[in-house]
Amino acid sequence: MTIPNRNHDTEWVRNLKDENLLCRSIRHMWNQNRFAVLDEEDQFRAPVGTETTIKRELTCDRCGCQRFDYYSRYSVRSSPGYRPFLRMKVVYKYPTGYKFVGAEHMFERPDASDFFMEAYLRFRTE
Ligand SMILES: [Zn+2]
Repeated sequence: MTIPNRNHDTEWVRNLKDENLLCRSIRHMWNQNRFAVLDEEDQFRAPVGTETTIKRELTCDRCGCQRFDYYSRYSVRSSPGYRPFLRMKVVYKYPTGYKFVGAEHMFERPDASDFFMEAYLRFRTE
């Protein structure tokens, strides 16, 4: 197997908006909008034993990314690893320009090192 050379799209990183670059390098600033039990027609297919599905909606105060966490609540203490709440699914809705698209191969995608380098060049204080 041949491993392709690292050929990341650093121009794309250089053109990222400041808020997107900051979130890509130091994570999002989550703020909670909603934390509620879903009614039946709103629930996604839940595993056997699930009593209720709980949805938590978060928005990043910096870049506007949205995150939806879905938890299942169980009351049956059937196993030693029993947990009353289990996160079943996480869905992200990214702001325009946040996600890198178009790479044919994973070796072309910018990684954490690229975001760190660009953040250093753009935001260092000394
Ligand atoms: Zn963010």
